[in-house]
Amino acid sequence: MASIDIAEVSKTYAGATARSVSDINLSVRDGEFIVLVGPSGCGKSTLLRMVAGLEDISQGTVRIGERVVNKVEPADRDIAMVFQNYALYPHMSVRENMAYGLRNRKTPKAEIESRVAEAARMLELGPYLDRKPRALSGGQRQRVAMGRAVVRQPAAFLFDEPLSNLDAKLRVSMRGEIRRLQKRLGTTSLYVTHDQLEAMTLADRLVVLNAGQIEQVGAPLEIYHRP
Ligand code: ADP
Ligand code: ADP
Repeated sequence: MASIDIAEVSKTYAGATARSVSDINLSVRDGEFIVLVGPSGCGKSTLLRMVAGLEDISQGTVRIGERVVNKVEPADRDIAMVFQNYALYPHMSVRENMAYGLRNRKTPKAEIESRVAEAARMLELGPYLDRKPRALSGGQRQRVAMGRAVVRQPAAFLFDEPLSNLDAKLRVSMRGEIRRLQKRLGTTSLYVTHDQLEAMTLADRLVVLNAGQIEQVGAPLEIYHRP
């Protein structure tokens, strides 16, 4: 576990005249679940992708734990990201998809097996371990994407609209599942969504972004139930 510290971070895309993200200061505390919420185009995904190392940081510093990650390769950041499109490898089984990141990091085989088994148990994926992603429902695919993040035992989880491709009913149940899993593991989490209800249900603290800047930070009820 670790905190995520975002200090004076701005982003100007190559060729753009305006900043997409401007002077962001934010600390996600150890074990905390922060949701970045705001309208489409407000910069949520840009900010998350800078923390993930998928986007260069134009100005400022991002730390994960003690480490300044601006210059650290994405694979060495000790974060695990869950995407909207799941990003599963279609030719690999559920088990192989979950094991892949660990295998790349030369984790011993027995350790990989026990971590995959544990994650499969937590996410109720046991019966599906030998299936390919195409033989799974949307909700099951999303669970595999979660499982792949969980087995890594990262310092932090980064979620980029992970439930957007699911139908309304599944979104509600997966929301609960993500929340329970995160509390159980205690993993520091930064989660992006444009859905206010999802944000309110999941967040310890909400960060409302607007036009690239932080507009409000607070507990869900502080933000959405002002007298
Ligand atoms: P959100 O995730 O809140 O929808 P984004 O971070 O995707 O917002 O986008 C923030 C702003 O940055 C928008 O104005 C968007 O058009 C712009 N933007 C996003 N990605 C790029 C890119 N690769 N090149 C140029 N501009 C981009
Ligand atoms: P992990 O995400 O388990 O750490 P890797 O480190 O090997 O796996 O993946 C490197 C990057 O590629 C990560 O950002 C990962 O989420 C992404 N990725 C994994 N699978 C796919 C895929 N099928 N398509 C696109 N990107 C992927």
